[in-house]
Amino acid sequence: MMREIKKDKYFRDRQSTYVILGICCVQCKKEVLLYQKDGRGGLKRLYLNRILAPKTLASLQDVVESVKQLTLLKCECGNNIGIPMLHREGRLAFRLISGSFTKHKEGK
Ligand SMILES: [Zn+2]
Repeated sequence: MMREIKKDKYFRDRQSTYVILGICCVQCKKEVLLYQKDGRGGLKRLYLNRILAPKTLASLQDVVESVKQLTLLKCECGNNIGIPMLHREGRLAFRLISGSFTKHKEGK
């Protein structure tokens, strides 16, 4: 089950384009989450409110109010994927650890 694509001001600020990315663990190759990447350019962080699946991660945006409530984003195998951060405009995110994951495009 996947969340709906978001079309909010952040989306519009990025030319109203997006791709859905599958983020996979580099160690065990398992898919960790699905992500709506707005606009063009590289993927440096994962905003909480763009995580589409699984439910356990996608629901963080509904319950987490501060960066202190977040823990490292980990794969089931224990590989660290992202570090909690607060980005501009108060957007909570995980800063991706380079080399810890691979990404691929999912169909729209
Ligand atoms: Zn893994």
